[in-house]
Amino acid sequence: MDDHQTEISDGGLFIRDGLIEEVGQSANLPNSADEVLDLKDHIVLPGLVNTHHHFYQTLTRAVPSAQDANLFNWLTTLYPIWARIQPEDIFTSTQTALAELALSGCTTASDHLYLFPNGSKLDDEIAAAQEIGLRIQASRGSMSLGVSQGGLPPDSVVDNEDSILKDSQRLIEQYHDSKDGAMVQIVLAPCSPFSVTTDLMKQSAKLAREYGVHLHTHLAETEDEEQFCLQKFGHRPVGYMQEVDWVGDDVWFAHAVWVNDEEIQVFAKHNCGVAHCPTSNMRLASGIAPVKEYRAAGVNVGLGVDGPASNDGSHLLAEVRNAMLLARVKEGITGFSRSESPSHQERGDRGEGEEVRALMTAREALYLGTRGGAAVVGRNDIGSLEPGKCADFFAINLDRIGYAGMHDPVAAVVFGQPVNVDYTVVGGKFVVKEGRLVTVDEQKLREKHKKAVKKLLS
Ligand SMILES: [Zn+2]
Repeated sequence: MDDHQTEISDGGLFIRDGLIEEVGQSANLPNSADEVLDLKDHIVLPGLVNTHHHFYQTLTRAVPSAQDANLFNWLTTLYPIWARIQPEDIFTSTQTALAELALSGCTTASDHLYLFPNGSKLDDEIAAAQEIGLRIQASRGSMSLGVSQGGLPPDSVVDNEDSILKDSQRLIEQYHDSKDGAMVQIVLAPCSPFSVTTDLMKQSAKLAREYGVHLHTHLAETEDEEQFCLQKFGHRPVGYMQEVDWVGDDVWFAHAVWVNDEEIQVFAKHNCGVAHCPTSNMRLASGIAPVKEYRAAGVNVGLGVDGPASNDGSHLLAEVRNAMLLARVKEGITGFSRSESPSHQERGDRGEGEEVRALMTAREALYLGTRGGAAVVGRNDIGSLEPGKCADFFAINLDRIGYAGMHDPVAAVVFGQPVNVDYTVVGGKFVVKEGRLVTVDEQKLREKHKKAVKKLLS
């Protein structure tokens, strides 16, 4: 994922103090180190970057009454359950989500926590992430527009603006690390146009810019939201963001499905990023984001698994696969482009006179999951395997039945059935080794999580 998309056979990395020092053919790397990891038969890729998640939702996966609902009905079904969440549940669900992410090759995860019932704090999530050892872009979310003011959530899960802003400032000062190699960064993230007041949107942007932290929110996820924004604010969702000063290279939006050509150009002009969540968009029947159009316009796009109540998993490599497949579904619906796919040109396997379809390639999908995601969350120190970057990578043993006969090892991990990875390394430290989590006892975590869910739903 360097600027030349270099792929190295018999390659290796030399890592020192959490950073990549050399990348190249193993034969040309230093032949001794404190620890040598032999990854014969493995593919090594840059750690995946998750750009949108709600860790706490591992507590409400596949809830029967929310299985077949669209976004607004799904939310109103789940809000009352979420209102019962306790601080220890935030800790447990964060570890469960991060464990699943780590096992799928993720090394940096963004999370969007926007309700804080019963004394819960973002601190609970950060403490849990520090134990697991993944980098975290922890978003201090918020909801301030309850149903009595024309919002969607019940008043019991919204907070007042002063306390939200005060807590946001405290978290930035306590945790935000703006340096390369940061393990924790804070993001300000009012939840969505239909759950947050206009004033809180503006105040959050002002506060974030005073401290140089990023801004994140849900936007243009469904057609319902478009109608809501037109009626309540007199703008379409993107126009409303412009109105509240939420455009810039420090802003990224989750979903951004329901946008028109002019709105794509607004994102491009202001360098706003997009967290594309294909599985969630399919699960909630929200629609298909115009990823190809975003990329053509120069908009940064990353991938997100979204919350486990609308996925209902946190497997980021599966999300890479779904991004590729869903882009192809969209292509099939909107008509095939006659432009030529570079991957076919490069390989020279195009028949004479054959129409080549500009389909998303496996490599492009992997780019979205790595370098694309890093750009979306505003980090230059991750997303590729290059000297000077963080030593964040994952490795998969290709010698397994699901990959037998695959002609192309890079494409294999995207075209093939998604698997759990064999190694995940963050800053030179193992989080997954020989297919097992090493920073947390997975069995104990599963038991603890099961108990928390039983208590929450009892
Ligand atoms: Zn979301």
